Amino acid sequence: MTTPLRQRIAALIAAQGPITIAQFMTLALHDRAAGYYATRDPFGAGGDFITAPEVSQMFGELIGLWLAQVWVDQGRPARPRLVELGPGRGSLMSDALRALRLVPAFRDALEVVLVEASPVLRDIQREVLKDCGVAVRWTENFDTALTDRPLFLVANEFFDALPIHQYVKSEIGWCERMVTLDSEGAPAFALAPVAIPNARLPANRDGAPRGGVYEQCLAGEALMEEIAYAIAARGGGALIVDYGYEAVGFSETLQAVADHKYVDTLANPGASDLSAHVDFKALGDAVVRGGASACGPVAQGDLLVALGIVQRAERLAAQQSPGGIKSARYTLGDTPNLRGQLDKLIQPEQMGTLFKALAVVPRRAPMPPGF
Ligand code: SAH
Repeated sequence: MTTPLRQRIAALIAAQGPITIAQFMTLALHDRAAGYYATRDPFGAGGDFITAPEVSQMFGELIGLWLAQVWVDQGRPARPRLVELGPGRGSLMSDALRALRLVPAFRDALEVVLVEASPVLRDIQREVLKDCGVAVRWTENFDTALTDRPLFLVANEFFDALPIHQYVKSEIGWCERMVTLDSEGAPAFALAPVAIPNARLPANRDGAPRGGVYEQCLAGEALMEEIAYAIAARGGGALIVDYGYEAVGFSETLQAVADHKYVDTLANPGASDLSAHVDFKALGDAVVRGGASACGPVAQGDLLVALGIVQRAERLAAQQSPGGIKSARYTLGDTPNLRGQLDKLIQPEQMGTLFKALAVVPRRAPMPPGF
């Protein structure tokens, strides 16, 4: 199979020479006509992958209450703004705002802004949130228009979708891995013929083996620094949840997923999700450069247990009756799989350990719950 987008990318490379992996990712994910996110809803059992907010309502509920606790800890600053980066189907925000009925002083003061590049997903989010009772608006980018108030921000599986650069250790130094064309005209990897300056490499680079790969997400680091700067200046807090690592292992994590399976990264741009594991050390360093405190990362399972997910699951289970009690998103009586949801989110061999959470708060603020 060759996608129309693959043909256009091949034409671009033929005309202007090799492109970076970051450029390839940007085209594959966001091209207006054929990009992966621009054209589809990839979530759920019938989709390409499943995310924590789609696994269980408990995830968004606990995150909503986490944000409220951070707001209370900082003396309930006026005019808080709640921003979500890459809200997918809008489930996390819907569950968070429902749980926040418990903290009306926070909920009623909020302005909610969803940062979403995909027109298809924006439509789904609008539909899911139409009766949430809070004014919600949308924007395509996180920028300074969002940094003039105390900032409460959440991003689940967003940073993994941002474009990365790859550098490979070769006999002449660290060279950027590019996307070029093979003899048949298909996209293929090749190393740039010149090495990059050491200044852009992590401190432990000398321990890397020949062929070791260093992945750098410049877009993610810049965004993280901007968020930290806003939180340091105006107050607030951010919770970044994603799959990733704390120490650079010099192995590559760029991956393509379609229909819940790994597929070739270059073969079908636009038809598979492309992502890379998140470098939490690099994000934490960006937070410090922005002038705020980086807390964690902690394992997703540990965070959710500390926030009370087991008690919440027991409470939901107790509400299950033969007739079923109507919950906000589904009839619990019809979904006797709370145990399965809980395990999926917290067990180490499922999402509990690979997924991690990094929190950002102002330097003088108390440690947020769960950290
Ligand atoms: N948070 C959701 C969805 C994760 S998938 C969940 O957990 O289910 C990544 C989301 O980020 C999608 O909504 C995608 O459209 C959006 N996205 C990816 N890159 C983006 C970018 N550069 N700018 C804005 N949104 C982006």
